Amino acid sequence: MKQFAKELRIDFVGGAVAHRLQFGGGRGQSLAKAMGLRGGKTPMIIDATAGLGRDAFLLASLGAQVTLIERSERMHSLLAQGMDRAAREGGELREIIGRMSLLKGDAKDTFSKQALFMQGWEELYPGMIEWVSGSKGGRIDVIDVATRSLHTESGDTHKGDVVNFIPPQKAGVIAQHAGLTNNDGWCPVNQRTFESKVHNDIHVIGDASIAGSMPKSGFAANSQGKVCAAAIVTFLRGVPMPEPSYVNTCYSLVSPDYGISVAAVYRYSEDKGIYKTGGGVSPLIADEKYRLWEARYAEGWYDSITMDVFG
Ligand SMILES: Cc1cc2nc3c(=O)[nH]c(=O)nc-3n(C[C@H](O)[C@H](O)[C@H](O)COP(=O)(O)OP(=O)(O)OC[C@H]3O[C@@H](n4cnc5c(N)ncnc54)[C@H](O)[C@@H]3O)c2cc1C
Repeated sequence: MKQFAKELRIDFVGGAVAHRLQFGGGRGQSLAKAMGLRGGKTPMIIDATAGLGRDAFLLASLGAQVTLIERSERMHSLLAQGMDRAAREGGELREIIGRMSLLKGDAKDTFSKQALFMQGWEELYPGMIEWVSGSKGGRIDVIDVATRSLHTESGDTHKGDVVNFIPPQKAGVIAQHAGLTNNDGWCPVNQRTFESKVHNDIHVIGDASIAGSMPKSGFAANSQGKVCAAAIVTFLRGVPMPEPSYVNTCYSLVSPDYGISVAAVYRYSEDKGIYKTGGGVSPLIADEKYRLWEARYAEGWYDSITMDVFG
């Protein structure tokens, strides 16, 4: 196994992949047909479990724009190397690789306020909402935009009139191009000031930053913005910065009259970075009136955060 791991290499230039490129049968191949590459149609495709990248390469060679998503650090890096080698060959290979974009990510097994959401679905929409976790067959293998179909790793296909797909996240391209990201695609920062750990005098807040225990939320980003502003102002004035405190609050409406929430307060220490000091979520056992009040608070929360952000 050790030897296998040592020798594994992804090769788009020679071997089986090159053979398939030359003699594979073009759009007549079953994968191409299944993905809707028929006639003049060329769908945009997301291969959400890229693996060795062979299917993605084939589809890109037939003209499709393919986004590859791979969760394994090692496979992701092998894919990046293989794509880089192929692009350096130039000509047709460079064009094909130009149609492939690689992301690192994982289909999640949990989500925020999960127990509360699932309880609310059961109460309000019994039998209508099914949630399948990533590890239990919920990982999307391929998304075919043309036919609005999701193909899961376990072989199921789901079709929808509207399909909302939230791909695995990472910092925006601008942060990558500025050299602010680490190997996982996020920006390491001093969590007290949000100054980049890579480039002095650049501050990164919000989803792009690695902010200790804080979740990636709009409210958290807003709170970080205030701490960051205080850090910059005190630096410019040459005065010591007060010890920061950070906060996150998120309300969600399961229905217009059924609200749930999560809130937490955070502090900073040299050894732990940003850590949680307190907080909690709505209780699982609560009556209709409680959920109704939380729904009303949610409206107030929304008004206040939008006012705070946009003025
Ligand atoms: C489905 C969903 C539900 C959510 N629900 C909640 C919720 O209830 N409460 C909550 O607090 N958070 C929620 N969030 C999270 C919240 O949306 C994010 O955490 C928040 O928007 C992050 O803010 P940000 O400023 O860091 O990044 P973003 O909001 O992503 O802002 C980045 C901005 O930069 C722009 N940009 C990118 N590249 C460039 C460039 N080169 N030049 C100029 N501009 C550029 C982008 O267009 C974008 O507008 C939710 C997220 C999702 C996906």
